[in-house]
Amino acid sequence: MSIADRKAVSLDPDDWADLRAQGHRMLDDMFDNLASLRDRPLWQAPSQEARARYRDGPPRVPGRLEDAHAQFMADVATYGSGNRHPGFMGWVQGGGTAVGMLAEMLAGGLDANLGGRDHMPIEVERQVISWMAEVFGFPAKASGIFLTGTSLANLCAVMIARDRALGVEVRSEGVRDPGVAAYASNAVHACIVRAMDMTGLGTNRLRLIETDAKGRISLTALEQAIASDRAAGVKPFMIVGSAGTVDIGAIDDLDALADISAKVGATFHIDGALGALGVLAASVAPKLKGIERADSLALDFHKLGQAPYDAGLLLVRDAAAHKRTFSYGDAPYLRHEERGLAGGAWWPCDFGPDLSRSFRALKIWFMLKTYGLDALGGVIQRACDLAETLAERIEAAPELELLAPVGLNIVCFGYKGADNAAIAADLQEAGRVAPSATTLNGRSAIRAAIVNHRTQIGDIEALIEGVLQAGRARAAR
Ligand SMILES: *Cc1c(COP(=O)(O)O)cnc(C)c1O
Repeated sequence: MSIADRKAVSLDPDDWADLRAQGHRMLDDMFDNLASLRDRPLWQAPSQEARARYRDGPPRVPGRLEDAHAQFMADVATYGSGNRHPGFMGWVQGGGTAVGMLAEMLAGGLDANLGGRDHMPIEVERQVISWMAEVFGFPAKASGIFLTGTSLANLCAVMIARDRALGVEVRSEGVRDPGVAAYASNAVHACIVRAMDMTGLGTNRLRLIETDAKGRISLTALEQAIASDRAAGVKPFMIVGSAGTVDIGAIDDLDALADISAKVGATFHIDGALGALGVLAASVAPKLKGIERADSLALDFHKLGQAPYDAGLLLVRDAAAHKRTFSYGDAPYLRHEERGLAGGAWWPCDFGPDLSRSFRALKIWFMLKTYGLDALGGVIQRACDLAETLAERIEAAPELELLAPVGLNIVCFGYKGADNAAIAADLQEAGRVAPSATTLNGRSAIRAAIVNHRTQIGDIEALIEGVLQAGRARAAR
């Protein structure tokens, strides 16, 4: 092969003008796609033909970008997961934003590795973390890191709490007989249970405490569990509060949990995946009192924060403790230098499990710069207001029943006497509104999580109408 042939191996185009024109078409198509979400079904099962096209072997020879794009539009964009649609209320998923999408494109173009070293993208991540420290009332010197989501942020928080309780030697010695226990309500997200598993502490060392009528952790039961553990020589090392439980959006009494944690010397962590950003919404903020006292806080921007997937954040009050759990600065190829590109005081790889990392913070930075915190708070407030309206409509409809109190943006309800999981699936297949299903106290429930900034009162009405129709049709069978 001659040198001239080898040159052709670069993946840059010979002619940027063609690529530019095609790139603009791709951008325009996605703008059109976003602007017309309401005109298309929320979701449809992928066709057999479309699925079959994704079972071919790997392409050996080059194809045209416009062909790949056309295939993407026909198959992938057509059969998406539906969460951007205004009628989407399933699980707890954000709707994404055009600004977030544009920032993702810039981040991809920049292709920065946010593991560490001395460059401006790192400063952007630090700025967003410090904005969030301020928003949540954490000290200015608090630490933080962007991660895929709250599952990973919770795992990192359990690791930090573990090391604090057992000593940093646990990193080299491993977990032996830990003699410690963690506490959370029985409505805590399953990823906390998994974190106990993945940290080697064991899921049996997580005490799942009963909840009260509003779905909040029972403080009396918590104190009893702690007392009986202590009497048996087991040390409470961590208390996890939920700022929005995944099933019904209940917010634990965070202030009281902070008091109890301080009293017993446990780390106080908050799973705020769902509700933490509620501090930006007037009616939610008072319910989150005490959030500013947490030792660590996990939250998601890809839920009520509306950022495109994925964007989770861990905030840690004690930056030194955070670093003690994750730094591995003695690898020679990762040495931090005083000067040059390997300079820079803050290397994210010392604060989390990832080495190579994407520039997740950029989309949050752009969204906050353009929409502002107040608008984001307005979106969250409206989601909660719509949830409240939905609950009122349900209570006014004799065929429907509310199955859990509404404290945030999640409404669990049912058509009396029906299989509510089947109704949720009926609605998903109809493609106008999409709640999900859950089980509450052994009963199937329709679960509508109002998250998407595009959802309006008409979508709430469509949900009620859809459930009534599906319920009546099932009852008539
Ligand atoms: C979504 C959620 C999680 C998990 O977060 P991911 O971003 O999906 O990893 C944890 N806790 C709660 C309360 C959640 O709602």
